[in-house]
Amino acid sequence: MVDKPGPKHVVIVGGGFAGIGCARKLASQKEVRVTLIDKNNYHQFQPLLYQVATSLLAPDDVAASLRKLFRHSPNVDVKLAEVTTVDPTAKTVTTSSGEVYQGDYLVLAAGSQPNFFRTPGAEEYSFPLYSLDDAERLRSRILKVFEDADREPKLIDQGALNFVIVGAGPTGTEMAGALAEMINNTMTVEYQDLAVTAAKVYLVDHGHAVLGPFSEKAHEYAASMLKRDGVQIRLGVSVQEVTPDHVLLSDGTTIKTRLVIWGGGLMAAPLASKVGLPQGRGGRISVRPDLTVEGFPGVFVLGDFANIPSPDGRTQPQLGSVALQAGRWTAQRILYEIKNVSYWPFNYHDKGFMAMIGHGAAIAEIGEHRHELHGPVAFATWLGVHAYLMSGVRNRIDAFIEWAWDYFSASRGPQELDRTDAARIDWSEDEDIDEEPEAGEEEIS
Ligand SMILES: Cc1cc2nc3c(=O)[nH]c(=O)nc-3n(C[C@H](O)[C@H](O)[C@H](O)COP(=O)(O)OP(=O)(O)OC[C@H]3O[C@@H](n4cnc5c(N)ncnc54)[C@H](O)[C@@H]3O)c2cc1C
Repeated sequence: MVDKPGPKHVVIVGGGFAGIGCARKLASQKEVRVTLIDKNNYHQFQPLLYQVATSLLAPDDVAASLRKLFRHSPNVDVKLAEVTTVDPTAKTVTTSSGEVYQGDYLVLAAGSQPNFFRTPGAEEYSFPLYSLDDAERLRSRILKVFEDADREPKLIDQGALNFVIVGAGPTGTEMAGALAEMINNTMTVEYQDLAVTAAKVYLVDHGHAVLGPFSEKAHEYAASMLKRDGVQIRLGVSVQEVTPDHVLLSDGTTIKTRLVIWGGGLMAAPLASKVGLPQGRGGRISVRPDLTVEGFPGVFVLGDFANIPSPDGRTQPQLGSVALQAGRWTAQRILYEIKNVSYWPFNYHDKGFMAMIGHGAAIAEIGEHRHELHGPVAFATWLGVHAYLMSGVRNRIDAFIEWAWDYFSASRGPQELDRTDAARIDWSEDEDIDEEPEAGEEEIS
């Protein structure tokens, strides 16, 4: 009697959109068993991080427990561990605590990290917005500067209520809109003794448009919506240095601030340099149209961790919809290979780009032909696409729907100042508070 072969082992690194998309499609398939490894025991829904940072949503609303997600899938084993090295030839991954997992297939989907482009002080003193941890730290810092300024209004002269957002791409623009709304609608009501109107949100970008990847009409619309909410837009200048109490811009001006939010760019997660595969733009792994790397059959690299070729000769954008579709496609591809069925290259069904700038102020460029929508219709489209993305990673999307409903009624979620590490500000570091700006420096206040 010949033994029936056991299920093939698929090792997935990363429980983001790509990893979850793959694992969910493989769940309950008898041909495979899956080990899903993530350094967090939850999936974080990045598109809603700025709602957490501005207290519109609670952290729990945008995080989904990985174990809960797969509790009815006996062939999926979730491991909480940080992968530190990968051997793509042996198809093994090794974790920081020394465990080694070997698969018949490896799926590498470890996502991105902020790219500070070696800007002095940016990594030390700015607040990125890439993870749930980042969003919670940022929320605490925003609340702390308001609390400190409320107690000691003189701190406003030290830049307490100046907020500098670096990068006018989707992350920076959405964050600027949400922060301006938080200040205008909530802080004015909650801090009645404080001159909240002194608060300023600066959006700085070395490019010449807000929401660069969008159309020209969208650039103007986004800029006008931000200006309506009081955001000061500084285009064509870059941030040269971030310090504990100010930023220095390339035109020689300084802005006193205790909160710089970094939306300046992304690069592949640190693991990319430890996987022994060729790295391309942004440190991402360059893959073929079937999401594998030449010479390493059975090793798939996807999502933000990869440069995935697109039919126009460029690479696919770093988007949740690209990652989710790539994850699902990889699962199908593995199942086809096991069953000896032929397959076709990964083909991304382009959903377009969208960004939400504030109440009823959204932009959507739909599909490959970029049909453009603005305002409430675009907001409704944004909701639909995000509900689709969220349903790809969690079963219950009621918190999201509830938030969307509340958003129209302008109510706010939790405002607890719970991250003391991020909230601690040493106001004494500020120098020359009462002095004029130095020669050659223009002070913006
Ligand atoms: C603020 C913000 C807003 C966004 N808004 C949108 C939007 O509106 N629409 C949209 O389509 N896209 C949006 N994106 C982009 C989208 O979130 C990403 O493209 C998507 O999350 C990429 O999915 P991924 O699975 O490749 O990576 P991720 O979702 O980043 O997941 C990577 C996973 O790998 C884990 N990991 C990393 N390193 C290791 C390691 N060494 N060991 C173990 N685990 C590891 C991480 O913990 C994480 O869970 C936004 C991104 C940000 C930051």
